[in-house]
Amino acid sequence: MQADKIWQAALGELQLQVSKANYNTWLKDTRGLDYSNGEFTVAVPSTFIAEWLKSRLNSLVCRIVSGITGQNTSVCFQVQAVNGTPPPVKAGLMPDGGVSLKAREPGLKSAFLNPRYTFANFVSGDCNRFPYTAAIEIASNPGEVFNPFFIYGGTGTGKTHLLHAIGHAAKLLHMSTYYMSAEQFTNEFVTAIRSRKAEEFRVKFSNVDVLLLDDIQFLSGKTGTQECIFHILNDFLADNRQVVISSDRPPKEIECFNLRLRSRLEGGLVVDIFPPDHKTRLAILESKAKVLKSSFDASIMDFLATHFHHSVRELEGALIRLATYARLNNSDPDLDSVKYILNDLISISEQNNGRYQPSTIIEVVADYYAMAPEDIPSKKRDLKTSRARHVVMYLLRQQNYCNLSDIGRVLGGRDHSTVIHGCEKISSQISVDSQLSKSIEDIRILLKSYKTS
Ligand code: ADP
Ligand code: MG
Repeated sequence: MQADKIWQAALGELQLQVSKANYNTWLKDTRGLDYSNGEFTVAVPSTFIAEWLKSRLNSLVCRIVSGITGQNTSVCFQVQAVNGTPPPVKAGLMPDGGVSLKAREPGLKSAFLNPRYTFANFVSGDCNRFPYTAAIEIASNPGEVFNPFFIYGGTGTGKTHLLHAIGHAAKLLHMSTYYMSAEQFTNEFVTAIRSRKAEEFRVKFSNVDVLLLDDIQFLSGKTGTQECIFHILNDFLADNRQVVISSDRPPKEIECFNLRLRSRLEGGLVVDIFPPDHKTRLAILESKAKVLKSSFDASIMDFLATHFHHSVRELEGALIRLATYARLNNSDPDLDSVKYILNDLISISEQNNGRYQPSTIIEVVADYYAMAPEDIPSKKRDLKTSRARHVVMYLLRQQNYCNLSDIGRVLGGRDHSTVIHGCEKISSQISVDSQLSKSIEDIRILLKSYKTS
């Protein structure tokens, strides 16, 4: 059987199984390349798409392709020019600034970008690999790959950093870049309305190539501003200009939010970013310490990574305090002094961390799936229990209450890789399974009615 025929048939089935937005983003530009020895190769246009398909749709694709070929078939994704044209040139990320395909005079100021928030200063790990790779892909070809790009996650997980990094890279492509928080946007919009300059306000975005809008959850309930953003977003999408948006929650969970705007946002690429795991926190510390020209003993770095696991902002704050102490005293503190110096920061961090106790999450999830809480950490492996267990892993990891091994421990002594697998499973299915995303949404609402720890 020819590879392209098999793949056309598979695409037909996939179209029925995944949402239109997902199909258009991940599958539309793929091609059947080769089928031999029980292995099917799919050509995909970029590394990011290859990675996404491999980790999130692999089992579905294998099942469908095996059904069509009539034998157990494994699938691999290979980056290749899908229409015979070479993959897009990533000129903008060249150290010399590259050559812009869309070179033009910057329209609005491309100021407001923090010089420290670059891709080079961003540490990637399991917790942020997808958003990071997607951001690089977008920064290399603004407006041409995933548009709009919506990135969500808790505070201090690096969303603003990534938005700025995209801005810096777009500037290298000589694209005009505009970063603003949703709050700033609202203030400017309200001032424009008051001075009857609403139309001028909207027009000022017409020269912008890359719009970076931070913390859009701030717009909850602000109907006029939402309507304005909806129109601006449409203008950008119509001209293939890039919009990147961040939020502390997915579009679905922003309350009092314009439905048309929500569906536009969901039509692009929506990616979640987790708080950094222990290993990534250590790597971030190393990188920040280098910038501060400081270095501390491994036991101190480990102490920081263990006690400041809620957000990178807190982690960075603790490191800066230690670096300042070391500089002023001309000596490195030992572990006991570190505990003393950071005492107040640790207790603030612990208060902030007081999200939901693992036992609360287990209880609420068990309640939602109508099962006993003891079933969740048990050895049971039926579909319903496994699903509930994976949801608990996912929610615990998202709020970063404890590290992966601790999550495994409260879930009946499972190991770190089982927890990653469970979280990935939910992450990947949320985007293709609307029932699951609704369940998670409902569970979060149930959790809100519980007291935080
Ligand atoms: P958010 O917008 O998600 O609240 P920020 O982007 O403001 O978080 O990040 C908070 C601080 O942590 C910033 O100083 C940022 O540079 C740093 N930071 C966050 N994630 C990373 C990372 N993966 N690598 C390096 N620095 C990071
Ligand atoms: Mg931010």
